[in-house]
Amino acid sequence: MDFEYFRMVLNDFTMKELLIINWLDNNLDKSINDRQSKILYLLLEFCDDDMKEWTILKVEQALMAINELGFLNRNEEKKLDICLRTYLRSEKCSNIIVTPFVKICCGSRLNMSTERNITVFNNNNSYIATIMTGYCEECKRKYSHNYFIEDKQKFVTHESILDSQIVYLGGEYAYEKTLIKLLSNSILYLHSGFENFTKCYNETKNSNTNNLDSNEGNLSPTRLQDFWFLYNFVTFSFFYANSEQLKIPSSCDRQELVALMDENYENMNSCFVNFWSLHKRRHSCGSNCSRAFVCDGFQKPSRFICSNVKKSSYNEELGLVQVGCGNRPDYDVKRKKDETDNDESILLPTNSKDMNIRTALCRACKSNPTPEYIEEEFITNSECNIDRNPRFVNGKVRSYGVIYTMYNCGIVVDFLEINLSEQVYVTLLHWMNMLRKIKDLSAIPRIFIYDNACSVWIYFKKRLHENKTIVPTELALFLDSCDLYIDRLHQKTHTRPMCLKDRNINTRPDLADVNTVICEQTNSWLKQYLNMLCNFSGERSKFYYLFLFHLLNCKRSSFYPEKHFNMKTF
Ligand SMILES: [Zn+2]
Ligand SMILES: [Zn+2]
Ligand SMILES: [Zn+2]
Ligand SMILES: [Zn+2]
Repeated sequence: MDFEYFRMVLNDFTMKELLIINWLDNNLDKSINDRQSKILYLLLEFCDDDMKEWTILKVEQALMAINELGFLNRNEEKKLDICLRTYLRSEKCSNIIVTPFVKICCGSRLNMSTERNITVFNNNNSYIATIMTGYCEECKRKYSHNYFIEDKQKFVTHESILDSQIVYLGGEYAYEKTLIKLLSNSILYLHSGFENFTKCYNETKNSNTNNLDSNEGNLSPTRLQDFWFLYNFVTFSFFYANSEQLKIPSSCDRQELVALMDENYENMNSCFVNFWSLHKRRHSCGSNCSRAFVCDGFQKPSRFICSNVKKSSYNEELGLVQVGCGNRPDYDVKRKKDETDNDESILLPTNSKDMNIRTALCRACKSNPTPEYIEEEFITNSECNIDRNPRFVNGKVRSYGVIYTMYNCGIVVDFLEINLSEQVYVTLLHWMNMLRKIKDLSAIPRIFIYDNACSVWIYFKKRLHENKTIVPTELALFLDSCDLYIDRLHQKTHTRPMCLKDRNINTRPDLADVNTVICEQTNSWLKQYLNMLCNFSGERSKFYYLFLFHLLNCKRSSFYPEKHFNMKTF
């Protein structure tokens, strides 16, 4: 290289200026029109004042100098990058150090130490990272990238989750947020299951890296599923609640995760219902927002459930209601050694020996086999063509799907998984449960639309006013003041005088533009998740509904479940 030329160039440019121009030259495609002026524009965007007087001519001179001096070109950079990644992978070296989300606690710097190497997954690849932890001598907290440990308990905070690109909640694996978003969007828009998502991901990743015969650095569907549940548990909790920190399982044990989530279910469900029932205060869907409740059942996702059909649930208004037991039956089948790698459906019985109904109780009902018995009539209403029979398959009980209530504007307000059949008292139980979670009844509509509104009406009014078996609480009296209508789709199958007149929504011209088939439309969306919904255990399936509806509502009302926190309705 000509040393004189080099000295001349360095009189005109600093080395850093040349490196910036070289980077732009390598990353801006050669075929782009008017390339120099684009480089100049980007240069001025990126740089401080000292490069403000650059001109196209100066850019051209810099490009010439770079060429002459033989800087790294695009292909060489790419080759070097591949070389580095291959080396790091083959030597199992860490690409990046993942540090605690805070550096200082109790006024002094944390004591840093290297914890372990983990595998991180991003949208196209996996790589190794080193987890650093920081220890505070003062308060004895141990900080990691997304959580801290205090008294052997693990907590996450807004701060620890919100701003982080990598989410690490313990164990040997972490996930970049871009991948978590891809997964959630694939579930929402492509109806992906965890099994097919991981297959697609691993296949793509391995074919890109010529790593076809190695399972190393592959996603595992069960781990990904557990992570997705845990991550949504965290973001969901911060979305609705105003707590500063949240306890998460201290280990990556599946049972611990399910048990901890289960403890929080009632509260999470209440926050969900209260927020969305009053969503108009934060986001109006337009002039038809929150005009009426629309309710429907979705019977297709039926799981095998415990055969204790007599199990009941107590409700303040209705008393004991027979709802059955939604737990997974405890069949005596041999489980494989490593249960965590099994698909949950493997636990279903496969031969006739298991058809014995006594073996199909859940573990809890087996140890407590004397349920309270409630006399409850099954209503078969042939007049209105409503089929409401309990479902038994080969002597085993299958669940009846879900009943849920939406607003006409497309927001899901609450749901209840049904174990037996869609009896009118189950619908009433669902509505009472829902109303109890809403903190301001004066802010919600007094209109319910349901395909069996006539039977609910007769059942409810008779027991509230004549038999007095329904307790006239504030909620019961609220429902008493509501109008009940049959949805337009099912109106034609109803022929009783009451159905044609009092329960007929067409007698209400003011509700003419209220969408009464919003649930049917949502059912056809839910149908895409049948495979998943039929295979979850009882505990998981209610969370899957909750998270799905949460993501759906957020999408419909332009909230970002990743970004929004503390969405208080009051
Ligand atoms: Zn401290
Ligand atoms: Zn709305
Ligand atoms: Zn049971
Ligand atoms: Zn009817």
